[in-house]
Amino acid sequence: MKSIHLNKRPVGIPQLSDFKFVNEEKPQIAAGEMLIKATYLSVDPYLRGRMNEGKSYIEPFELNKAMSSGMVAEVVESKLEGFSKGDYVSGMLKWTEYQVSNGEGLMKVDGSKAPLSAYLGILGMTGLTAYLGLTEIGKPKAGETVVVSGAAGAVGSVVGQIAKLLGCRVVGIAGTDEKVSQLKAEYGFDEAINYKTTESMSQAIADACPEGVDVYFDNVGGEVSDGVMVNVNRFARIVVCGAISLYNATSMPMGPRVQPILIKNSVLMQGFIIFNFMEKFGEAIPQLAQWLKEGKLTSTETVVEGFENIPQAFLDLFEGKNKGKMIVKIY
Ligand code: NDP
Repeated sequence: MKSIHLNKRPVGIPQLSDFKFVNEEKPQIAAGEMLIKATYLSVDPYLRGRMNEGKSYIEPFELNKAMSSGMVAEVVESKLEGFSKGDYVSGMLKWTEYQVSNGEGLMKVDGSKAPLSAYLGILGMTGLTAYLGLTEIGKPKAGETVVVSGAAGAVGSVVGQIAKLLGCRVVGIAGTDEKVSQLKAEYGFDEAINYKTTESMSQAIADACPEGVDVYFDNVGGEVSDGVMVNVNRFARIVVCGAISLYNATSMPMGPRVQPILIKNSVLMQGFIIFNFMEKFGEAIPQLAQWLKEGKLTSTETVVEGFENIPQAFLDLFEGKNKGKMIVKIY
């Protein structure tokens, strides 16, 4: 079986040569263990941070060891009580075709309730990030204006749709005209802006938000966010979820100083990691599932096929090649 190891720590934009495919023996299970087969795998921008050395909220990947991310896997053999052949589980798992688990950190998922891949997206980490980041920090009220960057991606597309369900005016920022059309046509955004073809983001936001910005859900950071920040209202909430525009930076670019904006407008700007809200997952997942079932939320996935395409699917996130959640289908 194949496994994908971290070969080199990337400098700047990651390359295919930073990953290494390794042939390994298919493992055997002992009592209290099960053998699971990778079915769907999630590639996510935060993995870029784990490829670097240094202290963060999560351990860095080790060189010459298998990388890992969210995965849905099928139980193919089990000597573990509570898990049978044919069950599906989800959790943080290694980038190998087969692996042994004692069930720790894994949750059973039911493919008859939702497509299995949804447990990596709208009913998984990215859906939870969108819902809890928006409601716990952004706290949008009906009638307020919510701006979302990275709006056509896994988190952003869900943030915008939930903000619409909560009665807000929603403006999205994305990187292609096709994504901009999709935001309005498929997700009901009120306005959308292509940051790659817009000369002045601050002017474009001012035009799209005549009453100013009450909540900014930031997935990208950098210059896009600089343009939003100058348009915030008094008591605005800035939800700092991600900063993908800076993940490959070899030195941190200097932006405008934000303190005067925050002080003058009594703005709350808060970063978060989804695991801060773990105690809320139990109520958030059923809510997302219900909206999905009722057709109030649309889940979009870009599905790449084949274990061998995992590294490329990850690199494609930085090129904006995905719409919605980027998933790799393995078996
Ligand atoms: P996405 O599905 O949004 O994929 C990444 C998208 O980012 C691309 O499609 C691309 O879209 C956009 N992008 C890439 N490079 C740039 C750039 N230089 N400037 C602006 N946009 C860029 O990923 P996710 O929804 O999974 O994640 C979105 C953000 O949320 C990430 O920053 C991620 O790290 C963060 N996150 C944070 C979590 C937390 O707990 N705080 C949890 C999960 C995600 P486009 O075509 O529009 O450029």
